[in-house]
Amino acid sequence: MSGLYVHIPFCVKKCGYCDFYSVKLGKDTHLISNFTEKIINEILLKSYLFKNQAVETVYFGGGTPSLLTVKMLEKIFDALNSNFSFADKIECTLEINPEHATDEYFSALKASGFVNRLSTGFQAMDDDGLKYLGRNHSVTDNYRYLDLCRKYGFDNFSVDYIFGYETLTEREVEKSMKFFCEEKIPHISAYSLGIEDNTPFALKLKKGLIHKPDDDFFLRQFSLIHSILEDYGYNHYEISNYSLPDKHSRHNSNYWNFVPYLGFGPSAHSYYNNSRSWNCRSLSLYFEQIDNRELFDEQEILTETDIYNEKIMLGLRTKKGLKLADFPNLMISQFKDYFIVDDGYLKLNLKGWFISDYIISELFA
Ligand code: SF4
Repeated sequence: MSGLYVHIPFCVKKCGYCDFYSVKLGKDTHLISNFTEKIINEILLKSYLFKNQAVETVYFGGGTPSLLTVKMLEKIFDALNSNFSFADKIECTLEINPEHATDEYFSALKASGFVNRLSTGFQAMDDDGLKYLGRNHSVTDNYRYLDLCRKYGFDNFSVDYIFGYETLTEREVEKSMKFFCEEKIPHISAYSLGIEDNTPFALKLKKGLIHKPDDDFFLRQFSLIHSILEDYGYNHYEISNYSLPDKHSRHNSNYWNFVPYLGFGPSAHSYYNNSRSWNCRSLSLYFEQIDNRELFDEQEILTETDIYNEKIMLGLRTKKGLKLADFPNLMISQFKDYFIVDDGYLKLNLKGWFISDYIISELFA
């Protein structure tokens, strides 16, 4: 069992909060065709690594995969399909930005048939929120995306939503969540706004142009999201992820279950044979490294301590939690208000999920 991730490193403009690797795509469409050629070379170069692994999931993420034509994406998919052994029923997810949701794009996608799951960043359901976040689309685009999913029979899709920024009200959060639930959106990822270094928001924060709300503000919005989604029958299967029955992301769930994966494209990560590897975060260097047939930019072999820590981190992110019998020396007494123990498994409660990064790092060996 294994997964493949393809990183498409282009965006039309950079959203204020984003620290994913991408370059601004101007008028130079040659860059996209060059990239498609290079990533296919990378697939050929790395395929021997998963010779005996059945691939269960493929994920096209970014950046903005929908800046590539369906034909280009299909060419990359075909290269994966002919160089890896695919399991019978794979999950193949494609991220599409709402502004690229057109009849033409969806009908080409349906006709090609290689994608069976979509993911998109709605991020907000009001235009003021989208403007604050620096998104390149409007709420009308979000509605059109939903209509097209239905029209073309994509019944397995996910939307991302961001909460916890100063201009977002609880009333707006409630309205958006209820809308998603009434629309029976199969999968919802809700992220609190984090301000990462080297993003436009980090600069604005430094200049005092935006402000970070306090922890109570985040917690109230997170609790509201959580209670509405649970009321409507969503399964909170991972810190940021909620799904209707059978609509969880198989690809992401495999990350949390230590299933090996290979990543292609600049900044993509890979994990197999107890090693983690990275591609570089530079398109020109990536092109050079592929031409030189270099497998990765960096690679590290995980030590026993690394594996122990990763098990804690990945286990506590999920609803299943950590099997306590496997971690007899875990010192959790100082965090007892943030955990529940259920049938021998240690799980974070709502308050714990909210500060999970801190708790998890404190539990590391
Ligand atoms: S959030 Fe998505 S669209 Fe916005 S800059 Fe990041 S990768 Fe590009």
